[in-house]
Amino acid sequence: MPVTRRNFLKLSGATAAGAFLGGTSFLTGCGSTSVDKLKGAKESTTICPYCGVGCGLIVSTRGGKIINIEGDPDHPINQGSLCAKGNAIYQIAINPIKRRLDKVQYRRPGGDKWEEISWDQAIKMIARRVKDTRDKTFIEKDNNGVTVNRASGLFSLGGAALDNEECYLVSKFARLLGITYLEHQARLCHSSTVAGLAATFGRGIMTNHWIDIKNADVILVMGSNPAENHPISFRWIQKARDNGAKLIVVDPRFTRSASLADLYGSIRPGTDLAFLGGIINYILQNDRIQRDYVVEYTNAAYLVHEGYSFKDGLFSGYDAAKRSYDRSTWTYQLDEKGIPKQDKSLKDKRCVYQLMKEHYSRYTPEVVEKITGCPKETFLEIADLFTSTHKPDKVATILYAMGTTQHTVGTQNIRAYGIIQLLLGNVGLAGGGINAMRGESNVQGSTDAALLWHILPGYNPVPEAAKHKNLEEYFKAVVPKSNDPMSINWWQHRPKYVISMLKAWFGDAATKDNDFCFDWLPKAEKPTPHIVLFEDMYAGKLKGGFLWGTNTVVGGPNSAKEAKALEKLDWLVAIDLWETDTSIYWKENYKNVKTEVFLLPAASSVEKEGSITNSGRWAQWRYKAMNPPGDAKSDLEIVDLIFNEVRQLYKKENGKFPDPIVKANWNYTHEGHHEPDPELVAREINGYDWKSKKQLDSFMDLKDDGTTACGNWIYGGSFTEKGNLMKRRGLDEGPGNTGLYPEWAWAWPLNRRIAYNRAAVNRKGEPWDPKRWFIKWTGSQWKGDVVDGGAKFGPEAKNPFIMNSEGVGKLFSNSVVDGPLTEHYEPMESPFVNILNSQKVNPASLILDSVKSEFGNPSQFPYVGTSYRLVEHWQAGAMTRNLPWLNELVPDMFCEISPSLAKKKNIKTGDMVKIKSQRGNIKARALVTERIQPWTTGGKEIEMVGMVWHFGHGCAASGDSCNILTPHIGDANTMIPEYKAFLVDIEKA
Ligand code: SF4
Repeated sequence: MPVTRRNFLKLSGATAAGAFLGGTSFLTGCGSTSVDKLKGAKESTTICPYCGVGCGLIVSTRGGKIINIEGDPDHPINQGSLCAKGNAIYQIAINPIKRRLDKVQYRRPGGDKWEEISWDQAIKMIARRVKDTRDKTFIEKDNNGVTVNRASGLFSLGGAALDNEECYLVSKFARLLGITYLEHQARLCHSSTVAGLAATFGRGIMTNHWIDIKNADVILVMGSNPAENHPISFRWIQKARDNGAKLIVVDPRFTRSASLADLYGSIRPGTDLAFLGGIINYILQNDRIQRDYVVEYTNAAYLVHEGYSFKDGLFSGYDAAKRSYDRSTWTYQLDEKGIPKQDKSLKDKRCVYQLMKEHYSRYTPEVVEKITGCPKETFLEIADLFTSTHKPDKVATILYAMGTTQHTVGTQNIRAYGIIQLLLGNVGLAGGGINAMRGESNVQGSTDAALLWHILPGYNPVPEAAKHKNLEEYFKAVVPKSNDPMSINWWQHRPKYVISMLKAWFGDAATKDNDFCFDWLPKAEKPTPHIVLFEDMYAGKLKGGFLWGTNTVVGGPNSAKEAKALEKLDWLVAIDLWETDTSIYWKENYKNVKTEVFLLPAASSVEKEGSITNSGRWAQWRYKAMNPPGDAKSDLEIVDLIFNEVRQLYKKENGKFPDPIVKANWNYTHEGHHEPDPELVAREINGYDWKSKKQLDSFMDLKDDGTTACGNWIYGGSFTEKGNLMKRRGLDEGPGNTGLYPEWAWAWPLNRRIAYNRAAVNRKGEPWDPKRWFIKWTGSQWKGDVVDGGAKFGPEAKNPFIMNSEGVGKLFSNSVVDGPLTEHYEPMESPFVNILNSQKVNPASLILDSVKSEFGNPSQFPYVGTSYRLVEHWQAGAMTRNLPWLNELVPDMFCEISPSLAKKKNIKTGDMVKIKSQRGNIKARALVTERIQPWTTGGKEIEMVGMVWHFGHGCAASGDSCNILTPHIGDANTMIPEYKAFLVDIEKA
C-alpha cells in the first residue's frame, strides 16, 4: 500500500521526540533514513510483532527484498519511535545468522536429526495422524449419556503472535476436530486480568488505550515495568508528566520505571492484595470516594444476602473437602420485583459499602507494612496521592502487567484495582481506567478468537458436558436475566452471537431443527488450562497436537516437567519461524523419545497480510512486504492446508463423527488461487447476511434465527460493505483533544475507544470534568466517542456497566470463585505465615494430586524467587535470541541479588551461581545490585532472587530457563501460574 509520509518537518519532529525519550537510556528513537537509500523503494506499513503497544512501522523493499524498516511517523501511538526490539525487526526478515527455517523438517521416532521433507509429504502425514488419533480417542457420549463429541487425545497450544484471521481459523479448526485441550499464551500472562476485570466491569479488557495515558493526573504503575517492557507506552506517561501528572511505581525491584517515579514503594512479591487492601481501607476511612459516582454507578448501595459472612480468611459457603465455595450467599437481597434492594445513603449495615468498610478495616498501614515490607510512611504517601483523584475533576490510571497477574490470587489482585478505581470514580473516564499491558502483539486478538479451552470467539462460554446438555440448557445457564429497568444487560443478546457463529461455522447444515449444530461443538469434560493440559500430557492422556508459535519449554511453569511431558506424545507439529527450545526437546534424550516431530516453517509478520489487535483493542492491518524465505508459509495457509487434507480423508474414508469436518463452512480461497485470502476470513469474522452475503454494519444486526453468520460478534463492524476498516489511517485526533483517533484502524466494540464511557458523565450527561471531555449528552443525542450500550438511551435511562446484569460496577462480585471481596493470602510457597488469618494460602486454588510433592519449604529454600523481562528480549526468547543486534546487548542468562545477600553468599557480579527450587536447578550469571533490597516484615528479613525468564537452549543465545524453578500451581479462577513468587536457594556454582 502506498504510504503518504509526513513532510520532512514532521519527520524531524518525530525523530526529535524519539531522541528525547532515548535520553532516558532505554528507548531508541527512529532515525530518519537517508533519502537516497530509500529512493524508488516500495513502502508498506506494518505493526510491530512484539509487545501489545502496537507500534507502526514502514517497511521499504526493493526487488522484493527488505532494505529498511523504521518507525512510522504517522502512527499515532509511536509517532516514529521504536524500542530496541522494534528496531531489530529487520533481522527477523533478513536474519544474518541464517536461523530462519525455510524447509519443512521431520524427525522420525528415535531419530537423532531432522530430515527434510516436502510440504506435500508433511501435510499428508500430519492429516493422517490427526485423523487416526481423532478416530482412536474420540468420545461421542460420556458416561452420563451426554453427547460430547470430543477428540480427547488431541491438543492445540499457542497462537498469541498470529494474526487475527489466523487465530480465528486455528480456533475454528480445533473446535471442528473436537479439541478441548486448547490453550495459548493468554492463560500464562493475562488470564487473571480477563477474569478479574470481567467480574468487576463486565468485560476483561484494557479499559482505555495507550495514548489516553497522557490524560491522567496520577499514574500508578504496579507489577509492571513499562519503561522496559512496553517502552513506547512510556511516551504517553511522559506526556502526562509534562502536563503535571505524578507517577507512582510499586514493585519489588527498583526498576527503570521506578527510577523516573515521583513516589516508589517496594513490596515483597505476592503481597499486592495487602497493599491494595490498605489503599481501599484508606479510601473508606478517609471518605475519599467519588460519592455520586459510587452511589449511581457501583453496587455500593446494594443490600447483600443475610447469609453472607467472612471469618478468619474464609467467606461463607466454603467446602474444605472440595476446596471450593458455594456462592449462593454472595448475592443481593431482592425486592418483590426481583430487583436488588438499595440504600443510597450507604448506611445500612448490609449494604456493600458498609460490609467493605468492615472487611477492609483490618488493612491498617501497620498491617500493610508488616505483610508487604513497604514502610508505613511510604505507603501513606502513595495512598494519599493516588486517592486524591476521588474528586470529579481528577483522574488516575493504573498500568499493570504480569507482576500482578501471575499469582494464586491473580484474579483478586485485578479485582482490587477495579474496586479502587470504582470507589475513586475513575472508570470510563479519559485518563482513567485499568490498563492491562499485554506482552504479546496479538494476545488480545488471539484471546478474542478464543484460543482457550473455556471460551468460544467473543467470550461466549464453551459448552460443558455437566452443565449444558443441549442448546436450550446452554442458553438457560449462560444468558443472564435482569428485572431492573436501568440495566441494559447486554449479554441477553448472547443467543444471536452464538447462533450466528454456528451458522458461520456449519453453514447450510446449521438449522433451527438441529439446534444449529450445537452438538457439533465439543463439550468439555473438565477445565483444561495450561497446567492441567501438561499434567494430563505427562500422564500419557494426550497423543498428538500442535504448537502455533509457542515455546513452552521456556515459557511454561515447571518447564523441565513440561519437556518430559512432550516425550509422551506420539506426534507433534510445531509451526514456527525457527527451531525453538520446544521443537528440539527430543534432542537430549533422542534414543528414548518415540515422538514424531514435524517442524513447519512459518512466515514472519512482514511476510504475510492480516490484522492484529493491540492492548487498547485497536485492530490494525499489516501488509505483506516480501515473500517468506524458501518454503515458509503463513499460518493461515498452513491451517488451511491441514484442514482441507483432513477433510479429504474423512470424505474418502469416513471415520468418527465426520460431520463437523466434512460439512463445515470452510472456503477461504479465491477461484484459481491456492493461498487463502485473509480478507475472506476477516469478512466472516465481521459477519454477513446468510442469504444475500452482504457484510453487516455491526453486531446490532445479528439474529438468532440462522439468517446471519458471524465468526466473532465483537468484531462486528470491522469489515462492512464500506470495506476493511482495520486499514484506516485517519489522523483526526477526535473530540476534546484526548487522543481518541477514531479514524485510525478500528477498535472493538463498534470502534469505541474508551470502554464504559457512559460512566464518564453524570446522570445529566455532563462530563465529570468538562476540560477532559470525550463524550457527552447534548440533551437529545450523544456526542464524541461511540457510547456504550446503544445511542438511543440517554444517561438518565440506563446504567453504564452494560455487560453486568446489574448495570453497575461490582465492588462486591460473585463472578469469581474465591471471594466476593479481596483478601490477602500468602503465595503457595512462602516463608511467612499469614498474619491476617489462619488460612495461609488461597483456599480455592486447585492443587492437583500429581503436584503435591512438588512444593518446597523455607528451611530448604529460604529466599523468594521471582522473574521478569528485559527491553532487549521478548517472552520465551525465540523472537529475540536469534537476532544478533539484541544478543549483543544481552547475551546471557542472569539473576539479580542484593548486596547483602551477595555478601552472605560470597557472590560477586559476574560469578556463575546455582539457583535451586523443589522443581530443579539452573545456572545463571550473578548481578549484584542496589536495585534489589531485602524486606523486613514482622521482624524477619527476607531476600529475593530476581531472574530474567527469556533464556533456554534452543536459540542462538542460550542459557538455563528460569521456569525450571517455577511451580505447577495457579490462580483459583483461571490457573494462571504463580510465576512471580516461589522459594529458592542460591549458591556460587
Ligand atoms: S516492542 Fe512494543 S514498544 Fe517496542 S516497538 Fe514493538 S510494539 Fe512498540
